[in-house]
Amino acid sequence: MTSSDQLRQLPSVDDVLRWPLLRAIGSDVPRPQLVNWVRDAIELCRQEIQNGKAAAEHNVVQHITERIAQTQTRAKGRRLQPVINATGILLHTNLGRAPLADEAVAAMAACSQYANVELDLYTGKRSGRGERAVELLVQLTGAEDALIVNNCAAATMLVLQTLAAGREVIVSRGQLVEIGGGYRLPEVFTAAAALLKEVGTTNRTYLKDYEAAISERTGAIIRVHRSNFYQGGFVTEPDIAELVSLGEARNLPVVDDLGSGCMIDLSEFGWSEPTVPHSIRSKADLTLFSGDKMFGGPQAGIIVGKAPLIARLRRSPMTRALRVDKTTLAGIAATAECYLSGDAFQKVPLLQMLSRSVDEVRQHCERIASGLNLPESVRCKVAPSEAQVGGGSVPGATLKSWALYLSGISPTALTAALRSGSPAVLGHIRDNEVVLDLRSVRPQQHEAFVTAIQEAVTHVADQP
Ligand SMILES: *Cc1c(COP(=O)(O)O)cnc(C)c1O
Repeated sequence: MTSSDQLRQLPSVDDVLRWPLLRAIGSDVPRPQLVNWVRDAIELCRQEIQNGKAAAEHNVVQHITERIAQTQTRAKGRRLQPVINATGILLHTNLGRAPLADEAVAAMAACSQYANVELDLYTGKRSGRGERAVELLVQLTGAEDALIVNNCAAATMLVLQTLAAGREVIVSRGQLVEIGGGYRLPEVFTAAAALLKEVGTTNRTYLKDYEAAISERTGAIIRVHRSNFYQGGFVTEPDIAELVSLGEARNLPVVDDLGSGCMIDLSEFGWSEPTVPHSIRSKADLTLFSGDKMFGGPQAGIIVGKAPLIARLRRSPMTRALRVDKTTLAGIAATAECYLSGDAFQKVPLLQMLSRSVDEVRQHCERIASGLNLPESVRCKVAPSEAQVGGGSVPGATLKSWALYLSGISPTALTAALRSGSPAVLGHIRDNEVVLDLRSVRPQQHEAFVTAIQEAVTHVADQP
């Protein structure tokens, strides 16, 4: 067949849409998008013919069908969907950080319709937005007042801009962190129009360094939690209480950017993660943290602290731009209630996973392994592993865990098959084995987890 014959035989978009496979895809994909995929596939085919890349016996139908199927597979990988996190990283930023408590999920679903977000049903009058969530956060942290914004980055920017636009904010050189995703503290200062006043050195900063840096240009002192790395050896820095005394003496607000938002002292696990209540007890003027890190709630930036300062923040026009929706407010309130009920370690999934005994994780692992029915060539070993909190919390600390180690099968093919299953499963490859860590898998997912592994292994084993 000559190339002009081939071109003449190219189907029209309408022809392709009538092909059986396309009719099947059509029920999954909005039609305008499908039409685009078809148009692109035909166009590509045309170019290949014109460039002489298509063989004479080029099967146009097969070619176009395959290309559209591939486009669909790719699109499916981008669709937001639930995944099983078997990475062993409890707060995985790519996987949406903290999984929510059932109570939070229920409250968010219930309030996704009309909800009294700015209305007091008792008086019938307008109320502050999300007043109940604020009340609960105040109760939980011991602060005078609270404000909820989009995320902790937004909280930091709002605070810097409100307290210190055009003024200096003193920060230790040991705390000029990059959190990840391009969030670098010096750039946040610039964006908020606050001037960075660095003091001390990378490893040692003394209270007297802060003291010496204070001038009439100073707007605030900030302490930033080194959330994703740790310093050891010849290091020192003043603690938050010392900074607060200095701030009080010089009439300067002290901001504690904690990020991780740990509510409960975790020293029984051997971790010295700073807690929000400790920061408030130390009288920090404002304490900032993420809703979706150690707190274990939905994405948000939570600011707690002294009432006059929170009132100032609330009046800023930026606050309106950074405000959260009713479902977030409902989720935060419900998560705070989990803590206040005293059952946080049972109710908040993050705390549940973090506190589960290593023996229990091993039992979960064995239960999953015994539920699997794998081809003989595939080996599944149950062995210890190391999990992490991750997501900018408890840097460097590992959690003893157990994992499934799958071998005798291409690890890249298996991880790809696991990712494209439903639900998708995320693990990692180490030493040519696929490692699926059970500490980050929730017990109610176990059944789906077994099926997903089974299907992925079968899929790979069936490949030529
Ligand atoms: C994580 C973190 C942030 C950013 O929080 P987001 O909620 O991701 O915006 C800011 N500061 C610190 C110290 C953090 O750990």
